[in-house]
Amino acid sequence: MAQDTIFSKIVRGEIPADVVYQDDLVTAFRDIQPLTPTHILVVPNEVIPTLADVSEDHEPVLGRMLRVAADLAAREGIADNGYRVMINCRDHGGQEVYHLHLHLMGGRRLNPMAQ
Ligand code: AMP
Repeated sequence: MAQDTIFSKIVRGEIPADVVYQDDLVTAFRDIQPLTPTHILVVPNEVIPTLADVSEDHEPVLGRMLRVAADLAAREGIADNGYRVMINCRDHGGQEVYHLHLHLMGGRRLNPMAQ
């Protein structure tokens, strides 16, 4: 299958993950190596490799990813204190999985942004 990724397999339920939300456009699941008490990844169901690959056609799914992140933050009880949403892009951004994803991180005070 073209452009299949480990996250596609999670979206399709083919490998286990702690899925906390799914709809027609996006899937959210807990990061397997959480860096913060709440660390959730929100991914488009269809593969977009990186943020650098988005086009105007992707605006609905990009908006959904952000709204779902905000809703999950509220559900996780971290919205009042605040949290961080982060997207790593390609090599210099530290992206490891080439299936666009945002990191929703919170549950403690975060360090200043990485250098
Ligand atoms: P990035 O460096 O932005 O590409 O982040 C990739 C993230 O995916 C890392 O935080 C990994 O811990 C996480 N990850 C990799 N494989 C899985 C998996 N099977 N289930 C959940 N999270 C994963």
